[in-house]
Amino acid sequence: MTDSGKENKKSAVEKAVEILSTYDGPKIRIMEVCGTHTHEIFRQGIRSLLPENISLISGPGCPVCVTPVSFIDEAVMLALDKGCTILTFGDLVRVPGSEKSLQTARGEGAIVKVVYSPADAQVYALEHPDEETVFLSVGFETTTPSSCIALEQAIAHGLKNFSLLCANKTMPAAYRAMMDTTDVYLYPGHVCAIQGLSECRQMLELGMSGVVAGFTAPELLTALAVAVRKTEEGRPFLVNCYPRVVTEEGSPEARALVHRYMQPCDSRWRGIGVLKNSGLTLRPEYADYDARKKYNLPGIEGKEAKLCRCGQVLQGAITPKDCPLFGKVCTPEHPVGACMVSSEGACSAFYLYRK
Ligand code: SF4
Repeated sequence: MTDSGKENKKSAVEKAVEILSTYDGPKIRIMEVCGTHTHEIFRQGIRSLLPENISLISGPGCPVCVTPVSFIDEAVMLALDKGCTILTFGDLVRVPGSEKSLQTARGEGAIVKVVYSPADAQVYALEHPDEETVFLSVGFETTTPSSCIALEQAIAHGLKNFSLLCANKTMPAAYRAMMDTTDVYLYPGHVCAIQGLSECRQMLELGMSGVVAGFTAPELLTALAVAVRKTEEGRPFLVNCYPRVVTEEGSPEARALVHRYMQPCDSRWRGIGVLKNSGLTLRPEYADYDARKKYNLPGIEGKEAKLCRCGQVLQGAITPKDCPLFGKVCTPEHPVGACMVSSEGACSAFYLYRK
């Protein structure tokens, strides 16, 4: 067989691996914005294929990690001082607050229940009319619609004992905030499935390159190889490497649902600070379902753990291994910061796959 015949016989994955493993050009910094990408890249051993001049940076796309300390403090206050039943995804239970986590509060008598979806939380509220229930609504564009569906159901059932404590976030402000630390974004495929490509195109207009990536090994390898090849061409680019899920327009239905119940607000990101219009809060007409208003919560300034460097990790300024507490004081069993707790956190990924 001729050389070109052999080349044609190579699978797309083999070609991607070859492009990545033989790259010897100038350093390329690729930020995997999404925490699931970070974990999948580790889990599938993709990092070990990359030469030193392809640098992967873990970004701020883990919803639990970027949720600020003050949010945990609010949840603890609702549980201990206001007597509410807290309904939450499991990861949030162990995230340290200023003084205590929800797990600690549970030890002091708080009712904290883990649910697998906002819909489960709404059903719990329906089945426990004597409890004042609050669902901790965190997440990005992908998970926010399901909080809105739960709210819609609660309204339909006339529930008075169900509310949301919102820390929902949107990605565009974070995309803009991280531009200086990276050359190419590996855009989160599931966010783009909802939002479509318009936000990535706006980033392209600002000169920021990006590749929309799926989550399987072939999809990730292809996206990384495309990022390398297109960077070599020297012009900003946007390539959708996840077309089986991501379309140009995304899901207008999901966006309309969110728009019906929520509106943009400034939002605090752990370690990064307040980003303008980077969050979502319930519209005023749904104040009865807004836990902050319903229970008259005071403004809380959270205190981050002194030596935890989650903020720098989330901005891609350092890797978890640069944190002096990594793997010594801070482990998944005894997390000091949110990035070590969450199943999507960069610190937990570096720890789990450290060998
Ligand atoms: S290793 Fe622990 S203390 Fe250090 S940045 Fe990560 S979560 Fe924070």
